[in-house]
Amino acid sequence: MHFETKTIHSGVHPDPSTGAIMTPIFQTSTYVQDGPGNHKGYEYARTQNPTRTVLQDNLTALENGHSAYCFSSGLAAMDAVIKLLKSGDGVLASNDMYGGSFRLLDRVFKDFGIETKLIPMQDPSLVKQSIQSNTRLIWIETPTNPLLNIVDIEAICNIAHQQNILVCVDNTFATPYLQNPLNLGADLVLHSATKYLGGHSDVVHGAVICKNQELGDRVKFIQNATGAVPGPMDCFLVLRGIKTLHVRVERACNNAEKIAHFLLEHPKVNRVLYPGFSDHPGHLIAKKQMKMFGAMLSFDLKNESLEAANKVLSGTKLFSCAESLGGVESLIGHPASMTHASLPKDERLKSGLTDSLIRLSVGIEHVDDLIEDLRQAIDS
Ligand SMILES: *Cc1c(COP(=O)(O)O)cnc(C)c1O
Repeated sequence: MHFETKTIHSGVHPDPSTGAIMTPIFQTSTYVQDGPGNHKGYEYARTQNPTRTVLQDNLTALENGHSAYCFSSGLAAMDAVIKLLKSGDGVLASNDMYGGSFRLLDRVFKDFGIETKLIPMQDPSLVKQSIQSNTRLIWIETPTNPLLNIVDIEAICNIAHQQNILVCVDNTFATPYLQNPLNLGADLVLHSATKYLGGHSDVVHGAVICKNQELGDRVKFIQNATGAVPGPMDCFLVLRGIKTLHVRVERACNNAEKIAHFLLEHPKVNRVLYPGFSDHPGHLIAKKQMKMFGAMLSFDLKNESLEAANKVLSGTKLFSCAESLGGVESLIGHPASMTHASLPKDERLKSGLTDSLIRLSVGIEHVDDLIEDLRQAIDS
């Protein structure tokens, strides 16, 4: 089945009691049993909920996985993945990973004996050199946020699997429409469904998709045992968002490409970070592992002052200055003070995340209006 059909149909079935075409929101905490243990597969709503089941089955199909488990946020989903490890184990992650993901590893799991090492992941040979005897998990984000570095998923999976190391790919930026990490050898895929999967900036939600039964059983156990499950309304919203995922992402990618070219030619703009440019260092890998180049891009101005960047950040009218990404509406953000404030400043600067970098999450408005909005904000 094609992806565009899976988004709408996979896992979804008319409600057997009424024929409702939309999956009902099963707002219940428990289920009546005919007698102890004699039930229809649902006992208690932390363990199972029918709205959540449909979403999990749908996500499994979109990522070509064995099973999927949903959580109350992207970070709750990541928390479940890290709980596959034990005290003393090591995680290898990229030095420009999402700030909240770094904070979870460095400020929470460090105290439980999980060691995190940050490296620039775009060089697979450096990944190989950085593996230590306790490394049990490689955490990949690609494209990275907000520097738009591209990590070669297949190359890193090959290195990891020679040493029995798990690979989890945070696929939030690419979405399953553009990139399927399990097909490239990854063991686990993580989504902050808050972003493109939900797509309408109205829900916080996360998911883990597992490649096989063994990992699926372990994540399922953690989901129930630790309990960071999403409510049925949130599952419904993500399920509804996914029905238009392919249409939204395709439009947003096309808009982003045009905006990237506009910025590149603007006399006041210094760098434009966008993997669709043929001279972007990760362009060929992006072309190999992604269907399109994504709808996120970053740029900075020739005037490197924070003041100049702030003028653009507060001068746009259609691009709203806000955290998050992946919604239908375009957003503009300042990673150094917003999404990435929890990364240590020296790591931030080492990776190229300067104080004047501006990040765009391109939405699905008319591209001419978006370009005009950026033009007036940069020129003013
Ligand atoms: C937002 C985000 C997360 C965290 O997800 P939440 O839903 O906010 O908990 C993780 N990774 C990436 C790449 C993100 O953008």
